[in-house]
Amino acid sequence: SGIGRKGKPQSVNVYLRIRPPNKQERDAHSLTCVEIPNSKEVVIKQQHGKKYCFEKVFGPNSKQVDVYLSVVKPLIPEVLAGYNCTVFAYGQTGAGKTYTMAGGSVNSPSASWHSDEEAGIIPRALAHLFEELRLQQQQEYTVRVSYLELYNEDIFDLLSDGEDNSRIRIYEDQRQKGSVIVQGIEEVTVCNKNEVYKILEKGQEKRRTAATLMNAQSSRSHTVFCITVYARETTLEEEVVKMGKLNLVDLAGSENISRSGAVDVRAREAGSINQSLLTLGRCIKALVDRCPHVPYRESKLTRILQDSLGGRTKTSIIATISPTFSNLEETLSTLDYAYRARNI
Ligand code: ADP
Ligand code: MG
Repeated sequence: SGIGRKGKPQSVNVYLRIRPPNKQERDAHSLTCVEIPNSKEVVIKQQHGKKYCFEKVFGPNSKQVDVYLSVVKPLIPEVLAGYNCTVFAYGQTGAGKTYTMAGGSVNSPSASWHSDEEAGIIPRALAHLFEELRLQQQQEYTVRVSYLELYNEDIFDLLSDGEDNSRIRIYEDQRQKGSVIVQGIEEVTVCNKNEVYKILEKGQEKRRTAATLMNAQSSRSHTVFCITVYARETTLEEEVVKMGKLNLVDLAGSENISRSGAVDVRAREAGSINQSLLTLGRCIKALVDRCPHVPYRESKLTRILQDSLGGRTKTSIIATISPTFSNLEETLSTLDYAYRARNI
């Protein structure tokens, strides 16, 4: 596509987060399969000490704030300068993607998951953006968010009150080459950091209801929380509006595709080939290998994110894994996928 892919090499930062053992794993006295020799490496004990290296490894005791400061904080100035950034949470179901992206026990509606400590990347990023805008004494700005779910290549708007999703269209903005517009989705203006919890709850609630109605497994869907910042800048000569985006993506459970990157037999039998997860892997590979053709158009997810992957954008992946031997197979699959995305 038209986004300037010449010049600086594409940077994809890949991080690893290992969650603490859950109750079931503790009760079963499940063995630990990972060792963290230093802040950038992880060793798999049961694989003859096979070693994987990342931008940073967050161990089972890591805090939400640690992840935010290392992974997302450096992206905020980019967004305010008018660039697009994307952070993905990748991993098998139950590995900690939603905990990392949204926070706490977002899956249980009544829990006070928006305590400061448990808050995930989405609320932290919004709070940080508002704080930066205040510090920069930016007078004229607008912050808007949208929240989408992708299931079987269908897009659902998690913030609209209506049920009709058929009017949603993705197209390339003719005025700005390479820029993508998702038409027909609700964009909610956010005025302060506290509003984000209402929005997240509304989205999660709608996601639950939709999943029940369709008898769908939410582990097979992706959610994209998109924050757009418009800031007006006036110099002596001109007035410009800078627009930057931060996409925070909670991916479908990686157990839906197999280790080789082929479609999992179970998933195929269930009639749900996760096109978006597969195409995302191919796009990232093409970007890090600097291939001239990136197959953005082959899935909805990569079409939506086309203007935020490649070119002058920053992409980060947080691979999430379980610490125990019982999940070794899926953990290795996640480590391999994440490792392939690195461009060293
Ligand atoms: P996923 O979204 O990948 O399916 P979740 O984020 O829902 O997984 O996590 C599964 C469970 O583990 C949840 O109860 C969550 O609160 C808990 N959990 C995940 N990661 C962590 C962590 N780093 N620290 C504490 N609890 C976690
Ligand atoms: Mg989840």
